[in-house]
Amino acid sequence: MQHIVMFSAGAGSWAAAKVVAKRFGLKDLRLLFTDTLMEDPDAYRFLIEGAANVFGLDLADKMNVPSHTEFPDFRDRSKWRLYLHELRAQVSVHMPQLIWLKDGRDVWDVFFDERFLGNSRRDPCSKILKRREADRWLTKNCDPHNTICYVGIDFTEAHRFDDGSGGGLGPRRALEGWRYEAPLCSEPWMAKWDIMELMQGENIAPPRLYSLGFSHNNCFGFCIKAGHAHYRLLLQTLPDVYSYHEQKEQEIRAYLKKDVSILADRRNGNRKRPLTLRAFRERFEKDGNNATGDSDYGGCGCFTDQSVLTE
Ligand code: SF4
Repeated sequence: MQHIVMFSAGAGSWAAAKVVAKRFGLKDLRLLFTDTLMEDPDAYRFLIEGAANVFGLDLADKMNVPSHTEFPDFRDRSKWRLYLHELRAQVSVHMPQLIWLKDGRDVWDVFFDERFLGNSRRDPCSKILKRREADRWLTKNCDPHNTICYVGIDFTEAHRFDDGSGGGLGPRRALEGWRYEAPLCSEPWMAKWDIMELMQGENIAPPRLYSLGFSHNNCFGFCIKAGHAHYRLLLQTLPDVYSYHEQKEQEIRAYLKKDVSILADRRNGNRKRPLTLRAFRERFEKDGNNATGDSDYGGCGCFTDQSVLTE
């Protein structure tokens, strides 16, 4: 039986991989990472260190696992991509059990190519860069009768895996012939705080986005599905990243010649209207938190949300 963990560079999938490794051993275990080419540099560090920890490998004398300060500026896209290309090549030599997939585009490339700015209901970024890439690899390399895939959803979000009415990732994938499991939704019942403790015990630094207040370690703090509170946090903690996405949003508006935006304005009981990241920032700079009082964090769920596998 092959055991494939959907390894997102987040804490949950790392803990799921630890549980699977303990239960079934390492021989038939693979970790599958789908790269949006736009992860936080520290997510790449955690991806490599976390995977090495699962497989009991010491990479110290084999390769440099870069800290986030060693990465080039993410805004220099050519340099950034080349750096990732070389890092991926090194990892594939020293840790081939970590399957590091990429489409070759990042989320903004996909929005431009699809002529569509994603939203909380339609997410071409994760559909194309994550789910399609993972499916391609699974179909080519695994027999569904002889494979179990695992995700890092924990019991606090168990409905995303199986809502008991045929919805959720598990039942949906089963309809397509694939067996999916969520090891953190049953014993040993690990939630995020348990996972952080486990990480400390293994001497792995948690991904820095968590300590900045983000609940997910995806897309460098960006997510097309996120809400006001999430973007307020991004603006306050990673202003360069916010500024980059603000600019990209302006570019796609001009390209599509449409009044589209990532956020929506529902203030004062108004009908939902587009709210650009630029307008949101300007509102925040003028009126502070009162101006962005919406407490909606929204959130990522690239492999698990309702839209997953239905498009
Ligand atoms: S984290 Fe958000 S922006 Fe990134 S690929 Fe997933 S849905 Fe898209």
